[in-house]
Amino acid sequence: MTEVKEFQCLKCGDCCKDTLSVNKNIGTGFFSEYMYLHTAPSLPIFDWEKPNLETRFQTKGVNIVPSTLIYDLNSKTSIVIQYTTDMTLCPHLTESNDCLIYKHRPITCKIFPLKIGILKEIADNIFGFDMGKCRFDYSLEEFNEKIIDETNEPQFLLNLYIRYKDAFKFALFGEFYDLFCNIKLDEFIQSGIIKPFTASGIEKKFRTKIRKSKSIGISEFIQETLDVTEKEILDYADMMTENLINDIKSN
Ligand code: SF4
Ligand code: SF4
Repeated sequence: MTEVKEFQCLKCGDCCKDTLSVNKNIGTGFFSEYMYLHTAPSLPIFDWEKPNLETRFQTKGVNIVPSTLIYDLNSKTSIVIQYTTDMTLCPHLTESNDCLIYKHRPITCKIFPLKIGILKEIADNIFGFDMGKCRFDYSLEEFNEKIIDETNEPQFLLNLYIRYKDAFKFALFGEFYDLFCNIKLDEFIQSGIIKPFTASGIEKKFRTKIRKSKSIGISEFIQETLDVTEKEILDYADMMTENLINDIKSN
């Protein structure tokens, strides 16, 4: 069997210089009919990451702003599914392509060149797997030869884990976190707790309305509605990730 080559960042800095190409998938799995694009995603940020990152970016002149959201007619609130930094070139990148906030960098950076939604992509179209624009993974042909065996999905997952280790774990974590939020959102919509505004047709009017509305992050909304803590939600995503990694390793 071909040996899987472990991922090694070449420190070219490409991904931090063009954050628009990095990862657009946080939280956008369900509800496309209700989802409203407020700001095109650059570097996606989860709402629970925002407090830790906001000042770090603001001092460099970059804001963290709502990216995709659902407007709730009941609470007259924008429920933010994904935040983003309003930048293209990250201000934390040094001339030698080091990250000045490495320990605190967003989960999107920790995952790259993988993406959140990795399991969905595998399930949807294993051959169309897009690994992002990373120099290490530029050669998709070589990548496919080494990683993808379409007849053996457990082996493929194990290979991804061998190759990407923590990046793969973070990608799964992001995916399970998204899944949790999406399931809760679905329940809220079905039970009438959230009455989503459908943007089609009167988009301009909608834009003005939501610009003026107050906003709340999705996990904060869930915490307030269900009386759960942020830690409980993150622990759930952690536990699901660990379980899946253990399954992958034991297969
Ligand atoms: S594009 Fe890939 S190789 Fe280059 S800095 Fe980013 S992760 Fe590293
Ligand atoms: S926070 Fe760090 S890793 Fe993320 S884009 Fe900026 S420089 Fe790159």
